[in-house]
Amino acid sequence: MALISCAECGQQISDKAAACPRCGSPASTSSNPIRDSVIQLEKALFDEVQKFSARIRELASFARRPSPPSAPPSPDIPDQIRKLAKLKDDGIISSEEFEAKKTELLGKL
Ligand SMILES: [Zn+2]
Repeated sequence: MALISCAECGQQISDKAAACPRCGSPASTSSNPIRDSVIQLEKALFDEVQKFSARIRELASFARRPSPPSAPPSPDIPDQIRKLAKLKDDGIISSEEFEAKKTELLGKL
């Protein structure tokens, strides 16, 4: 005969006992593998939930951190000038407009 711990109160009870003498909880023994696996599953699930909530807290604290000032997206200036040149060639903008815009874009380089 061996002693097992009562699942409810932790009392050491005989594995031959049908129920815990202390709290009356039905004894959990290896003769009830379904109950054992359910308990193991619950423990595994609890661990996962703990890990998950820790991760959520980590992400939440990360989200609260002020983000570093990000540089505005720098457009591809040479590419814009090329497009402007195409507009000029197509007669959509005048040479003056093209030159003015080109000067402005080149000033940003
Ligand atoms: Zn008990």
